[in-house]
Amino acid sequence: MSIRVLAVDDIQANLKLLSARLTAEYYSVKSLTNGLEALDYCRNNQVDVVLLDVVMPGLDGFETCRALKSDPATRDIPIILLTALKDDASRIKGLNAGADDFLSKPVNDVALISRIRNLASQKQALEDMRTHSINALRRVSNQDENIDGFTEDAESFDDGRNGQILVFDDDPITAEKITRSLAAEQAIKTVLAEEDASAALHSCDWDAVIIGLSNTSSDPLAFLSRLKAPLEFRHLPTLVVAKPEDEKRLQRSFELGATNYVVTPYQERELAARMRREVWRHRMLRELRLEMENTLELAVIDPLTGLQNRRFLERQMATLIDQSLRYQRDLSVMIMDIDKFKTINDIHGHAVGDVVLKEVSHRIRRSLRGSDLACRFGGEEFVCVLAETELDVAVLAAERLRREIESVPFIINDDGSQVKVTASFGITQFTGRHDSSVAMLKRADEALYRAKEAGRNQVISKAA
Ligand SMILES: [Mg+2]
Repeated sequence: MSIRVLAVDDIQANLKLLSARLTAEYYSVKSLTNGLEALDYCRNNQVDVVLLDVVMPGLDGFETCRALKSDPATRDIPIILLTALKDDASRIKGLNAGADDFLSKPVNDVALISRIRNLASQKQALEDMRTHSINALRRVSNQDENIDGFTEDAESFDDGRNGQILVFDDDPITAEKITRSLAAEQAIKTVLAEEDASAALHSCDWDAVIIGLSNTSSDPLAFLSRLKAPLEFRHLPTLVVAKPEDEKRLQRSFELGATNYVVTPYQERELAARMRREVWRHRMLRELRLEMENTLELAVIDPLTGLQNRRFLERQMATLIDQSLRYQRDLSVMIMDIDKFKTINDIHGHAVGDVVLKEVSHRIRRSLRGSDLACRFGGEEFVCVLAETELDVAVLAAERLRREIESVPFIINDDGSQVKVTASFGITQFTGRHDSSVAMLKRADEALYRAKEAGRNQVISKAA
């Protein structure tokens, strides 16, 4: 699909020119003449990159940029500010407004196209991460609950400071200038040789890497290319420091995955502003990834006890039944319910109830084998699936667990106060092709009911 560019400039002739250049690259281009329309358009359309004129009546480029970057709906869209203003103060003002780049008119075509392509692919990486996260969550939860709010937390405000930056430049003077530019707001480690850079990469969870394109002791483009090959570093922000005559190598570095740049002689504040943006982006990607991992885990783990939850059990039992059939293995199921748990809650409060649930879970885990599946089925009810275990052996395991719970009182307070806890058990086993997880759980539940009826604190089995 072609890259969708929104060009905003108050001068129609400028727009015509830009549009002609971009259309020649097969980009799809939308032109607008003021900032307000641009905000509205970005909120309601898919845009991959915005080109924004700085000097416009009404909302100027800085203000439009700031508005786009402060709205979560449009925050990810890369923005390139275009201006005839040559002063460094404007550049830095633009970058501080959240612009991803700042190009001076007349704009060099090659630089513009290469920058658009590069920023569009960075946006795509972010979008892919979001799509993967949400799809993964859908697969686990089989429903759309909470998905809309899912990525919002990951985007809480971050000023892009206090990142961990690795600087690889073989010229000590250049490296020193980079460090000076960033030391006030980032943590910097400088290396002068490629082997040190390669070793350092794995020594820390870096937020960004800076590479001197003028390195002569080794080929910086080859280094960049190797750096970006493994998946773990593919999205690591990488800023290159180029000399004005390095134009070609700079474009090549964008193709190889560099995400930002400065050209010497640069203002220290410009490097600092660009670095904040890279650190921010890296943290956002990392947050999204962690959020996804946590969500996947939460979808199958009971947060209070750390045991598996019912959803996981129901899915896993189907697999265990398949294996039992295929390999003719025994399979037993145990349902366990804490006796008079409501009374414990009523007398001691829910906090103590939670302590009891956690300690019971701990004793369950301790008494089972690693291959057994233990889950909190709901409330004070637990289900354990014992693989390769026949009914008699399962009854012995339940009896052992029953004694473990009964014999050692539960400590419920820091002052050492205790409560006695008992539990009742219902056991059954898998009986073959005609049997099912639903039928097994029903039989185990009937056995549990009989254990309760018979006075609690006991194990009852029901073979079939
Ligand atoms: Mg203008």
